[in-house]
Amino acid sequence: MNTIPPFDLSEQFKAIGSEINQAVLEVLASGRYIGGAAIENFEKSFAQYIGSDIAIACNSGTDALFLALRALDIGAGDEVITTPFTFIATAETISAVGAIPVFIDIDPQTFNLDLNQIEAAITPKTKAIIPVHLFGQPVDMTKLMAIADAHQLKVIEDCAQCTGAEWAGKRVGSIGQIGCFSFYPTKNLGACGDGGAITTNDPEIASKLKMLRDHGRYSGYYHEALGVNSRLDAVQAVILQIKLRYLDSWNQNRTRIADRYFSFLSSIPGITPPQALAGGQSVWNQYTIRVHENRDQLKADLLSKGVNSMIYYPIPLHLQPVYKSLGYQPGQLPESDRAAAQVLSLPMFPELSEEQQDQVIYSLKDCLIR
Ligand SMILES: *Cc1c(COP(=O)(O)O)cnc(C)c1O
Repeated sequence: MNTIPPFDLSEQFKAIGSEINQAVLEVLASGRYIGGAAIENFEKSFAQYIGSDIAIACNSGTDALFLALRALDIGAGDEVITTPFTFIATAETISAVGAIPVFIDIDPQTFNLDLNQIEAAITPKTKAIIPVHLFGQPVDMTKLMAIADAHQLKVIEDCAQCTGAEWAGKRVGSIGQIGCFSFYPTKNLGACGDGGAITTNDPEIASKLKMLRDHGRYSGYYHEALGVNSRLDAVQAVILQIKLRYLDSWNQNRTRIADRYFSFLSSIPGITPPQALAGGQSVWNQYTIRVHENRDQLKADLLSKGVNSMIYYPIPLHLQPVYKSLGYQPGQLPESDRAAAQVLSLPMFPELSEEQQDQVIYSLKDCLIR
């Protein structure tokens, strides 16, 4: 029996490997491995794709968030409102700059921040909000920007899982003050290694970001601020440049797969499939269902039928050991706790075949309809 993986990059490489090989060999032969035209060209193409004035490449999505917080002068004593139902990097970087993550609960339909709870969490120390467009599903940015603007808060969009997603006709990452992207291989636009990018329309923020990513210097050996070394390699830049041309068609495949999942799964008892929010266009980084009871047993049963599913995320951040000192208790953010107990992400990648998808669907039916 062939086990269907949650994610598989080998088919994609079969399709575009010759293009990638050629571009990588050109970089290797050029001797220019760091900086240069490859990076600048990718930054231009990426900014244009997102619909932002400027894009700045960096080493990872985590670095993108860290640099964004630093560029907005967020640090010790500041509070940043965010979601606990996300990958650790979202909150980890808030803590890394010395600020405090303030977790609010999620909307059970979208798994994203419950925007109705933001205002109650704002204090005089609040500097920014980091919405995460989780699983590819965009946050209602119209509503979020109205709240942020009314309270003069900055918005850093965590776009790691949603490159190409749109809210009200605009790509996410072009709506808040700063957008942060990850090119980790399993993201919608993935490198062959680590990579990230930051988008903004503000030239001052952009120049600060460039300074911070390059050891805190604007030029030469004069260091203005405490910076970091966070570069995108030329090899990754040329790979991403090629993949960017395919991104829309891959995202369309994901949408087609999500629609097909929905048409079969919505009638199966015991689970709730995800539904895209009106007003936005999801790019389905994950296809995450809710399992009303015995999620872990269903996961094991699926695996025995050759379907490998994943749990993103089993413990919400406010209950992680690392954040024990913040004093959150189980039950305090009940929708996040419930999501962590119920979510199951089914195999989802642009090359998932109908045959593979059928195996996922029939296995779910076998497990749930008795
Ligand atoms: C992947 C991810 C990150 C971090 O990106 P890396 O490139 O792995 O550092 C941040 N936030 C979210 C929501 C992510 O999914």
